Amino acid sequence: MSCSSCKPSLPGPALVNEGDEHPEFPSSSTNPCKLCTPLGACLAFKGIAGTVPLLHGSQGCATYIRRYMISHFREPVDIASSNFSEDSAVFGGRKNLHTALENVTRQYKPAMVGVATTCLSETMGENMPMLLGEYRAEATQEGQPALVHVSTPSFKGTHAEGFHAAVRAIVETLAAPRSTLERLAPIALMPGMVSPADLRHLRDLVSWWGVPATFVPDYSETLDGGSWSNYERMPSGGTSLDEIRALGSARATIECGLVLAGEKSTAGTHLAAKFGVRLHRLGLPIGLRQTDLFCGAMEEAANAVIPERVERERGRLIDAYVDAHKYLSGRKAIVYGEEDLVASLAVFLAEIGVWPVLCAAGGRSGRLESAILGAAPELKGRIEVREGSDFGEIETQIAELKPDLLIGSSKGYKLARSLGLPLVRCGFPVHDRIGSQRIQMLGYTGTLQLFDCIVNALLEKKQEDSEIGYSYL
Ligand code: SF4
Repeated sequence: MSCSSCKPSLPGPALVNEGDEHPEFPSSSTNPCKLCTPLGACLAFKGIAGTVPLLHGSQGCATYIRRYMISHFREPVDIASSNFSEDSAVFGGRKNLHTALENVTRQYKPAMVGVATTCLSETMGENMPMLLGEYRAEATQEGQPALVHVSTPSFKGTHAEGFHAAVRAIVETLAAPRSTLERLAPIALMPGMVSPADLRHLRDLVSWWGVPATFVPDYSETLDGGSWSNYERMPSGGTSLDEIRALGSARATIECGLVLAGEKSTAGTHLAAKFGVRLHRLGLPIGLRQTDLFCGAMEEAANAVIPERVERERGRLIDAYVDAHKYLSGRKAIVYGEEDLVASLAVFLAEIGVWPVLCAAGGRSGRLESAILGAAPELKGRIEVREGSDFGEIETQIAELKPDLLIGSSKGYKLARSLGLPLVRCGFPVHDRIGSQRIQMLGYTGTLQLFDCIVNALLEKKQEDSEIGYSYL
């Protein structure tokens, strides 16, 4: 099956269909600002302890996703596949799925198998609830894992949508009511698609309030662990199934994502509707405003004031803003990637004086612009927001917008290089640098890291462009 994700760079001119509303922006994609939907689901499944992701479809999809994740996280990533052949594409993949589940159960002894569909099985219209129900009824092996299924048709979704859909499926399948409230009920935290280092930092930050928190998912160890003396078939770490089951009695949910906040059906809305868990919907805590809101939600959920060390981190960030404002004021940036990241980065850039002239995302939620302007009203009328965007479209606008830098994944490198612009790498994927799993953006401290990268990228450019070569800037 041909897809824009597994064939990211299309050489030659993009096609323009007759009657296109915007003929200058072709209806086909040239290197889109999004990736394959089941990739996001696999990432979410990697954050659940003892879980094996399984793709119902062709082996090539699993290979492509593994390659993308391994090159970003630099860790082994096992993804099983039901390995469709021509026969399965014609007669259905029931037998393949059941064989795959038996093999995975025997070889890995997993606590859970996360089953995601590929473009092929989605196009065929495989009845996954029925196939999985039949497997459960017929399975004879001891120790059957929990099965969580998520529908991830990549021809109409993005990696971020696959990620959020998998988080929702995990919580919907596992979270259970409790007869009595836990003595120390956890906060349910849905951090969004962030780096392992950001997950670790968020976990520390939340722990300073003195209440437990259950992250769904938490791949901070499974995708960024230490070296092993002996090979581990399933890396340790991740949120346990019992922790997720206990979320029926969570004290509150904090769900991160400015665009996600407009979605009717999420893990957070499920906990709210089914168990009455209070839902806080916020942007990714990048920058002062958005981290302040996160801390405000924590204050309310934990019923405790902001810890002093958090206040100190906040102070350091403000100090950095003051130190560097003269280098940033009036600079222009193009931000691209998945919608929630683009939205939160735009809000952050606005507060440090950088103008996000173009905000381009691969998703098509219809909410990106309102999400940005709702959180940063000062940007109204001053930015271009593009959904379903690709690098071909970004390139056509660059000459007019004259940005000073690009911010996003390594997929923007060719463009940045051809224009001689600095690229600040963040998000997924970053395939041309070491340390992608340790890129930090969240909280006051993570923002400080990102802030330094942005300022230094601009200073480096200024220095390199200068004939004099100033060493004191
Ligand atoms: S699921 Fe679809 S987009 Fe993803 S690798 Fe397979 S064919 Fe490509």
